[in-house]
Amino acid sequence: MDAKQLQTYKQHNTLLSQFIVRLSAFYEGFSDKIDSELQILRGHLSGTPNFTLATVSINKLNSALQHQELTLKKYSIETVALLESATKRLQKVVFEDEVLQKRATQQLITLNQPVGDIFSIYKLFQQAIELHHAALASSAASEPAVGNSKDEAAVADGAKDTKINPLYKSILEELNQLIASYAQRQPDDSQLVDIQKKLTEGMSEDQLLKSCVVILRMIVQDAMAEASLTGKVIQSLHNSLGKMGGDVQLSMENSRTQFEQRQVGNAQLQSHIESIEEAVSHSESLESLKEHTQFCVQNIASTLNEQAQLDSQGQESLMGLLGSMQSRIEQLQKQTITYKKKLAEQMMLSQTDPLTRLPNRQAYNEKLSKAVQSWQDNGDDLAVAVIDIDHFKSINDRFGHAAGDKTLQVVGKNLKQQLTENTFMARWGGEEFVLLLPGMNKQKVTSLLETMRTKLASLPFKFKQEKVTITASFGASFFKKGDTPDAVFERADNLLYQAKNSGRNRVITDRDE
Ligand code: GH3
Ligand code: MG
Ligand code: MG
Repeated sequence: MDAKQLQTYKQHNTLLSQFIVRLSAFYEGFSDKIDSELQILRGHLSGTPNFTLATVSINKLNSALQHQELTLKKYSIETVALLESATKRLQKVVFEDEVLQKRATQQLITLNQPVGDIFSIYKLFQQAIELHHAALASSAASEPAVGNSKDEAAVADGAKDTKINPLYKSILEELNQLIASYAQRQPDDSQLVDIQKKLTEGMSEDQLLKSCVVILRMIVQDAMAEASLTGKVIQSLHNSLGKMGGDVQLSMENSRTQFEQRQVGNAQLQSHIESIEEAVSHSESLESLKEHTQFCVQNIASTLNEQAQLDSQGQESLMGLLGSMQSRIEQLQKQTITYKKKLAEQMMLSQTDPLTRLPNRQAYNEKLSKAVQSWQDNGDDLAVAVIDIDHFKSINDRFGHAAGDKTLQVVGKNLKQQLTENTFMARWGGEEFVLLLPGMNKQKVTSLLETMRTKLASLPFKFKQEKVTITASFGASFFKKGDTPDAVFERADNLLYQAKNSGRNRVITDRDE
């Protein structure tokens, strides 16, 4: 290489170095890491450039810039998404204002277009801020201020103002109505009185939320205490609680996996750093670089350690929280199961006659509609029988009401003992019983009723040392095509009347075979 060529190279190098120095000065402030590296690079390039050190610096910068480019892209996407959601929320709030609506829509269209350079994001921000300002100005002009006036400076600022937010207002109104309806039922409830007082004085968003929670709690307690909780409600409560428990379980598992992954990642980082440390320690010619880099690497390592510690603390507390949530849910599920049991008991009680412990008329009606349905579906025989104790009044009259009650219990039990599979008996009322007899022909029905009649008549009753025979009369009728349950019952009742009139203690059925 001759002297002239060398001269040209030197000039080019100087020009290039100056250019890099200016370019790097322009990008100052972009990121701390890049800034400090640029500063090092500028040091290497100014005065008499040291290209060996500059190359190390440039390599570092290269990878930092590559990383930074990805981060920038991510931030751009997140920022635009943030602006989009803020604009959408604003659009809901200003739904009555046509001009603002249009501007918000326009803004959303712009946000949906691809973002160019970083400066276009600044522009999007500017537009969004202007739009929010306009919305605040218009709502401040149209809404009269509610509540106390000491925060009026904040109202003008509009930043976190609660008094002119329409959503806040509508929640307040809703809360007012709820409290009014609850206050009627519980006029002395101190929590309610307190919330009512705060409502008239005006409350912050925080207080509003807390009050909502109080009211919600009251509603839930109320609902749980309500005896009229239907099986369906309880079932759905049970289901949703079950799902919630599942969700919590899942999120616990997720965060545990996340935590494990993070730990693996940390370990990898640590090993990367260790290998850099090793590489640096081998480049003995660059003593200062070695020292400097080692220092940096140590710092990074300790920072990473701290971070891992923080992570595990956060993880622990999250696990604790989730654990307690899980146990609360389990508790709630147990409660629900108890409610379900109680409801089933109530249901049973509501269908049982308290004196004879036999099913009552309500239970009969339910059984009847099912039996009629299957009679209509498959056409099998279905008969209804009515039983009435003979001269029962005289038992009461001669031996007292308690003896009458006892007789009803014994008769009911005895009649029930004769029932065959699929037959059903209920106390109709007074000293009358009703039977549902599916899938039995006249012969079978008559035979069953005759057994019931004779068994009852042979029971040895004894009142006040007096032996008494108790009998009953039976009337039974079969369902015919086009029959209604009432019509069949009436026929059976008429047949019972015939049995009574023809001497009592007998069975009459209505089908000729
Ligand atoms: P018949 O043979 O015509 O059926 O005569 P009866 O005396 O059985 O019929 P009646 O309808 O005249 O009287 C029924 C009586 O049953 C009247 C009522 O006081 C009595 N009775 C109804 N329910 C009960 C009850 O739960 N306990 C008691 N001890 N008596 C009852
Ligand atoms: Mg009667
Ligand atoms: Mg009677």
